[in-house]
Amino acid sequence: MWTVAVALSVSLMDLEKLKNALIASDAIFHNSHDGVVCINAESEIIYVNSAATEMFGYERADQLLGRPVTSLMNPEYAMSHPEFVRRHLAGEPSPVMNNLRRIRALKQDGELFPVDIHVFSIQVDGQRYYASFIRDMSEIERKDQELHDLAFNDPLTGLPNMKSFEAILQQLYSASTPTKNVIAILGIDRMRNINGSFGFEVGDQVIQILTGRIEIAFNDARFIGRIAGDQFVLIVRSDGEDGTMTCLADLRRKVDDITSVPVSAKGARVKVEITIGAIEIPDLAETAENAVKHAELAYGDAKKMARSRLHFITPKRLEEIAYTAALTHQLQDAIQNGEFYIVIQPKVDVRSGRPTAGEVLVRWTRSNGQSIPPGLFIPVAEDTGLIDAIGRFVFLETCTLLRGTKGDIEGYPKLAVNLSPKQLVDLDFVDFVASTFERLSVDPRLFEFEITETAVASATGPILDILERLRQMGISIALDDFGTGYSSLTMLTSMPVDKVKLDKSFIDQVEDSEKSFKLVENSIRMMQDLDLTVTVEGVETRAVHDMLFALGVDEAQGYFYSKPLSVEDFRTFSLAISSESTEAFSRIKADFVRKMPGTA
Ligand code: C2E
Ligand code: CA
Ligand code: CA
Repeated sequence: MWTVAVALSVSLMDLEKLKNALIASDAIFHNSHDGVVCINAESEIIYVNSAATEMFGYERADQLLGRPVTSLMNPEYAMSHPEFVRRHLAGEPSPVMNNLRRIRALKQDGELFPVDIHVFSIQVDGQRYYASFIRDMSEIERKDQELHDLAFNDPLTGLPNMKSFEAILQQLYSASTPTKNVIAILGIDRMRNINGSFGFEVGDQVIQILTGRIEIAFNDARFIGRIAGDQFVLIVRSDGEDGTMTCLADLRRKVDDITSVPVSAKGARVKVEITIGAIEIPDLAETAENAVKHAELAYGDAKKMARSRLHFITPKRLEEIAYTAALTHQLQDAIQNGEFYIVIQPKVDVRSGRPTAGEVLVRWTRSNGQSIPPGLFIPVAEDTGLIDAIGRFVFLETCTLLRGTKGDIEGYPKLAVNLSPKQLVDLDFVDFVASTFERLSVDPRLFEFEITETAVASATGPILDILERLRQMGISIALDDFGTGYSSLTMLTSMPVDKVKLDKSFIDQVEDSEKSFKLVENSIRMMQDLDLTVTVEGVETRAVHDMLFALGVDEAQGYFYSKPLSVEDFRTFSLAISSESTEAFSRIKADFVRKMPGTA
């Protein structure tokens, strides 16, 4: 305690001396990094320290002494200075005094720069003086700006980025009545290929040149940004007299102009195509967030539907896309959660009425109990590549049912699995089929793939090769939904198929129209002449069945015989129908029961 008290009394004394010495020598103000400027009541500069002298771009303090303080001020601010002084002297509160504020100050060479300033007044011998501490904020503002630029601008093009796009949309939507605008995403087609073939340097320059062209063409746009490596975004007003359609036509024409001349970059000439996805706001999105989302959906759809064209999204289409997007999400979960199972629809021999085969159909019941029909989710699965996983699941389930049949097919019903052409893009598909058959001892003669007429008709060489290889393994290939596509009967001769399934629509009118009957009759005859087995799908009535019987059709399938059944019910159905048949068939049936897995 004692030492502290002594130390304290000593230091107080020292402090007093020190203060006097510092004031006398001007050491504090002289050495301060902050500028100090003092003025008298007439606003004349009576003191500047060296930091202020330098900050304002002067060589010596005396260049400033005696001059009006307004010569250090932003001219606009300088004009209102007398009024501020008047108010202060009249005792009115002033925003200038005793407040730290950021303002622009004036250098000797006329440059304005940001400073933080704090002004206070002092009375000496009845005279009023004002002193201010001034800190140069140029460096800090520059760094802030850099950070801001990095966050809001794309470094390659200097265009605003996604964050800025979102920010401007927030602004547009915060208006009490948001104006009509078209948002268009302009995507460079095959940017990856451009980078791949010419290198990233050329790729970058292509983007920079396109940026310039877009800025010139759309100089009246509300916003031009770059929101992804290969995507620009525009916001264009569409509430003018001419409305949306003119705005879109204008958009299309300008983009055509932009892409009409190849881009020359680092010696390379690059032909660029641009796909445009567009929506109109606020009609197509109630919030800024939705505007971004829906514009992206429109662009995704544009890429799929109209590469290198303008694709404007209607509300109905948007609903469809949004539904597809939601379904895609749920499908991904469904695969992981095992929400799929199979059912089997019997196919019968028209002459004997016996079940000869079954078509395996996938079913999806979500964990909340909702069933989604394959007609809805299969196309989505095909588009998103999820069909691969679903197809493999159905294939494996079917192989499990046919397990152990190798070399012993007598009495088993054949099982047919639907094959999406997308599954054949996988080069390992044939190996996968072969190795699974091997592993589970499945006899390929009991196996059939159904692939649609449209898929086969538009198939390229490699896909046809795969079908041929599957046939060589002993699997039969059926042409599904025949009559819904555009292939002619003569095309059938060159297709790698063993069977044709006539679509329901093909036979729908036979009962009512003589012409339609003749067409069906002749088609069936021709297919039989070509040695193709004919299956008719969608048989719902006795009359159609009788007609098929009369025409000598081999096989039929439809609600008249049976709806798709659970695996268990399919077994029972096969038994029930076949029990009406001959003794020989009963024997087969008994075999079937014995051999099907899960039966004692
Ligand atoms: P698809 O291959 O033409 O299958 C026949 C469809 O017709 C089935 O519908 C079946 O339930 C229905 N059907 C059968 N008989 C009748 C009838 O008498 N009248 C009527 N109106 N309809 C009948 P489902 O199961 O809804 O399947 C629809 C489509 O989904 C299938 O058409 C097929 O293209 C696809 N699909 C189903 N399962 C799979 C699968 O595992 N893989 C693939 N790639 N596609 C599948
Ligand atoms: Ca089918
Ligand atoms: Ca079909």
